[in-house]
Amino acid sequence: MIIDLSQIQDKPKTYHLHLAEDWWVSDVPHDQVQGLNGPVVATLTIERIGKRFMVRGNIVTVLMLQCDRCLGLYEKELKGKFQLFLEPVVESIEAEEDVQLGEEEMGIDLLPGHEVNLESIIKEQIYLSLPMKTLCKHDCMGLCPICGTDLNKQICTCHVRRGHPAFQVLKNLL
Ligand SMILES: [Zn+2]
Ligand SMILES: [Zn+2]
Repeated sequence: MIIDLSQIQDKPKTYHLHLAEDWWVSDVPHDQVQGLNGPVVATLTIERIGKRFMVRGNIVTVLMLQCDRCLGLYEKELKGKFQLFLEPVVESIEAEEDVQLGEEEMGIDLLPGHEVNLESIIKEQIYLSLPMKTLCKHDCMGLCPICGTDLNKQICTCHVRRGHPAFQVLKNLL
């Protein structure tokens, strides 16, 4: 949904989005977000504050995430609120660069014009909601680095046969 911010004058405007499960398409390989397990229901309110626009919103969906350790998929419910500022930049390129440096630190997204894609904002907020490490459970055992067995499901014999590296050194000494 593309919004023309110049249409928002004195009164804030509210947009309701309902995006189907297949809306999510990963832009990056090995994306932590592998898809959705339910629609995205989002509400965004945009309010003009001088030359800027304040966007407040909430997002509810169920994400299908990939575990960093075992690479398995797991569900994570997302119920999040966010707030950000948008600023359309219409000055010359030189001036734009000056503005960008100072203002980026303040959490203001600069737009090259008055158009903003609400779906891109939602996507960005979904990425921002992710933890540093996505784990299917806090004690996920991960994959065996030798044979690739999912150690949550099965114990492989690699460590038995090869022995712990420390014991290996001992054995060599003996
Ligand atoms: Zn895992
Ligand atoms: Zn193994």
